[in-house]
Amino acid sequence: MANIMIVDDSRTSRKVLREILERNGHTVIAEGVNGEEGYLKYKELKPDIVTMDITMPVMDGVESLSLIKKENPDARVLMITAAGQKEKMLESIKRGAEEFIMKPFNEAEILAAIERLK
Ligand SMILES: [Mg+2]
Repeated sequence: MANIMIVDDSRTSRKVLREILERNGHTVIAEGVNGEEGYLKYKELKPDIVTMDITMPVMDGVESLSLIKKENPDARVLMITAAGQKEKMLESIKRGAEEFIMKPFNEAEILAAIERLK
């Protein structure tokens, strides 16, 4: 079981992800609606795992990942991608992302990625 923070600008995505995680015994300790909020909340709360959407206003997920990893090299970040984001995925790998899942969410894929990060 892990303490997880969800960072996504889509209310629906946050809700779906929270439901999947909670019904499988994980605890969602925070949500962020953009990369900047995710970064600031990470500093404060130090979740075990972050799910990080890529496309968000104010600060995108790649930038937020980068800031989090710079200060916390052991941070575990699971990137949430959509079709057509290969460049952003490659950039995320360079900046330290270990796992990716694609929208729309698949429960088994999400749980498997979380297990690999723990
Ligand atoms: Mg988004």
